[in-house]
Amino acid sequence: MNLAWQIEQYLPQQLLELVQNISGQATKLGQMVYLVGGVVRDLLLGYPSFDLDLVVEGDAVKLAQQMAEISQAKLLTHPRFGTAKFSYGNFTLDMATARGETYARPGALPVVTPGSLKDDLSRRDFSINAMAISLTPNDYGELVDPYQGKNDLEHRLIRILHPKSFSDDATRILRAVRYKQRLGFELEPQTARLLKRDIPMLDTISGDRIRHELELIFREKQPEFVIKRLAELGVLQKISTFLIGDGWIAEKFEKARRLKKPNQLSSLYFCLLTYSFSEREIEQFLDRLNISAKLSRAMRDTLLLKTRLSQLNKPSMKPSEIYYLLHEYEPLAIQANAIASESSMVHYHLQLFLTKLRYVRTSLNGEELKRLGISAGSEMGKVLQSLHKAKLDGEVSTKADEEKLALSLKPFNFHTDPKS
Ligand code: ATP
Ligand code: MG
Repeated sequence: MNLAWQIEQYLPQQLLELVQNISGQATKLGQMVYLVGGVVRDLLLGYPSFDLDLVVEGDAVKLAQQMAEISQAKLLTHPRFGTAKFSYGNFTLDMATARGETYARPGALPVVTPGSLKDDLSRRDFSINAMAISLTPNDYGELVDPYQGKNDLEHRLIRILHPKSFSDDATRILRAVRYKQRLGFELEPQTARLLKRDIPMLDTISGDRIRHELELIFREKQPEFVIKRLAELGVLQKISTFLIGDGWIAEKFEKARRLKKPNQLSSLYFCLLTYSFSEREIEQFLDRLNISAKLSRAMRDTLLLKTRLSQLNKPSMKPSEIYYLLHEYEPLAIQANAIASESSMVHYHLQLFLTKLRYVRTSLNGEELKRLGISAGSEMGKVLQSLHKAKLDGEVSTKADEEKLALSLKPFNFHTDPKS
């Protein structure tokens, strides 16, 4: 089968040019180059691709360096791994020297050796991801498909390449469910059996790798369906005994998507995923997944704030009261609680803080207060806080209002007041 037409049709112009240049250059060096993995799968499905993976039978780094001289794309190389990455605006093109892998023990990082394209495809996760398209001019566009991936695509099946696949690398369990959900495919029956059998092998996987796979799940359009399926299979509980993944998660994830700027969405999903956790449970989870200090803080804060939500469930709260209850929590934790809370009053107060109150500043600063005769130190702190509260509560609005209030608060006034 030849896919030259699909390459022209579905690759953005800039990537197409880069790919064609690489193909020409490789021929001069007598090396074979192939498109591999997700891009081949997506081209066969008729989806456009913006992140390309290329495998070179030869030396990917050398080829990339020669390309960099005639192309405007930015190049980053990792000679130790035989890989190179071109970035081109929103597009990326990864090049790797063809390699084979062996696993010293389940879950270990593989031992990598130089190899052929066939070796390179044989180490991959699923048949639909183990196809390549030749870019060498004399068979440009020809599909290389040693595991009948195209047939599995047509039958909408996720299939591993050999029975030890999940035990060699149990992250493939998470990947299988992610692709199944994204593409609306089924697990091929033998693959489904082995997946269930090898769920305990997730214990052999490092926290970093599990977290990375969860992050990939969180980049899907509707990660809640992947989470739900993982829960039904018992995979989620293997990552942390306390994870639930029920309908509550689905509802809240959807709500999060409607609210949040995409770059923080993944962190927000993490806060919601663990919303039912106790203090001890969250610590275990943070530790198991080696979660960063910043996200850990937001996840802990989410649970701390949860215990204080009842204090926000009162009508006619002063804005300053809301502000000083919330200002020490991570904004992400406040956002997570706004999504999680079932009370519209609590939700309103949390949103008010996020959208308005947290940005309120006094017009007068410390320097200006000094000029009004207020001394630096604790007095100044008290005056500033009173001004801030008055501003939050709408008791002052102009700079003149603030000056008047500041002067009335000056300790000096108390001491010299003749009536006192
Ligand atoms: P996506 O559309 O999600 O980016 P992709 O197929 O490009 O899909 P990547 O995670 O970018 O997926 O990985 C690129 C390729 O590397 C995959 O197509 C697959 O062939 C291979 N791969 C990635 N992770 C594994 C793994 N754990 N085991 C085996 N092969 C893997
Ligand atoms: Mg990819």
